[in-house]
Amino acid sequence: MPLLVMKFGGTSVADLDRIKNAAMKVKREVERGYDVIVIVSAMSGKTNELVGWVEATSPLFDAREYDAVVASGENVTAGLMALTLQEMDVPARSWQGWQVPINTTAQHSSARFVDIPRKNIDTKFAEGMKVAVVAGFQGLSPEGRITTLGRGGSDTTAVAFAAAFDAERCDIYTDVDGVYTTDPRITSKARKLEKIAFEEMLELASLGAKVLQTRSVELAMRYKVRLRVLSSFEDTDEKSGTLVCDEDEIMESKVVNGVAYSREEAKITLVTVEDKPGISAAIFAPLAEAGVNVDMIVQNISEKDYDDHPGNVTDMTFSCPVNQVARAKKAMEEAKAAGHIAYDELVVDTEVAKVSVVGIGMRSHAGVAAHMFKALADENINIKVISTSEIKISVLIDRKYMELAVQALHDAFELEQA
Ligand code: ADP
Ligand code: ASP
Ligand code: MG
Repeated sequence: MPLLVMKFGGTSVADLDRIKNAAMKVKREVERGYDVIVIVSAMSGKTNELVGWVEATSPLFDAREYDAVVASGENVTAGLMALTLQEMDVPARSWQGWQVPINTTAQHSSARFVDIPRKNIDTKFAEGMKVAVVAGFQGLSPEGRITTLGRGGSDTTAVAFAAAFDAERCDIYTDVDGVYTTDPRITSKARKLEKIAFEEMLELASLGAKVLQTRSVELAMRYKVRLRVLSSFEDTDEKSGTLVCDEDEIMESKVVNGVAYSREEAKITLVTVEDKPGISAAIFAPLAEAGVNVDMIVQNISEKDYDDHPGNVTDMTFSCPVNQVARAKKAMEEAKAAGHIAYDELVVDTEVAKVSVVGIGMRSHAGVAAHMFKALADENINIKVISTSEIKISVLIDRKYMELAVQALHDAFELEQA
């Protein structure tokens, strides 16, 4: 039997009516002759509520118990989806991660797949089951504990199942009808893309576009999964939505194809650190150990011979998610107290956001950065930090200008027009 993976996100299973709506879509594919693996998220808002309960109970929580709690939202929707399908005369049953089993690493709250043995589910398909409904976002550690895959992880569950079961396609049903040039909630000028290259989707996701979890795109790219994003609220067919695919499947492409943003960023500067070999290692090793996800890094040009600082000195600036600032500060203060680093001041700016432009065309086009900076300058937006890679340029700016920056860049690169 040909097999499809269909994933339904939180808003698509937010209540019993929406679960019914999603189940109808599944039934239609069964009627077309497919066996289906359905991956479900928790009802929208549920995971946030569960995380809130954990944090209120235990601020420095044991990550194993965090996972035990937050994984539960998906268990409910998996069971309800199976029941709904049964009510529609579709032979279905639910599977929690440990029942499959979905084997992962023991990295609680951000576990990675190890393997997904097919045997249990294949046996049921062979016995006449048409739909396996699997709880997304969760797995089983080598120690036998429940793990979760990081926020948005059901996308990755879906792609991993598509790879493991050689699915014809992995369809990600969500509350937008595809991948857009930017978040359609930020500008109505955002344009739906018919196709997007894996590399671009990977950058957009990792730069903040939460329509797909970054890891899901990585897996799809590695295992050549045909990945599609489409609406669970509209009638859809094989041509609907956005296909994430190899770059050579795309005929027309612009230099810049998307604008992404990440709202909750912070910027930390260590003022007056010694400019000598080993200083970066001495700063960033303790940050890594503390689990701080450092993103952008800038080291100023060094200045010589302050009165009280013989030798070269410089400032070191880095960015990280705003909810990791306390951890970063603590790590720096401890490193300073232990004599591993020295600085005069630690300056924190928690009111910044990151805005990025992405496009594989940048590999062969000059002038993209200049065009981007000009567009921001025209809106009087000050750039605090810049970082670039082969196919993206990111800037850190005041958070209050984030929407304006996204709109200005969308206009400047004429993304509204195909
Ligand atoms: P789900 O609950 O289905 O997993 P998410 O909320 O995780 O859905 O992801 C869908 C959301 O991603 C959309 O509602 C949209 O606001 C946001 N989004 C951000 N960037 C983009 C983009 N470039 N294209 C489409 N949606 C985007
Ligand atoms: N329910 C989880 C979350 O909200 C996983 C997911 O929806 O993908 O992060
Ligand atoms: Mg999501």
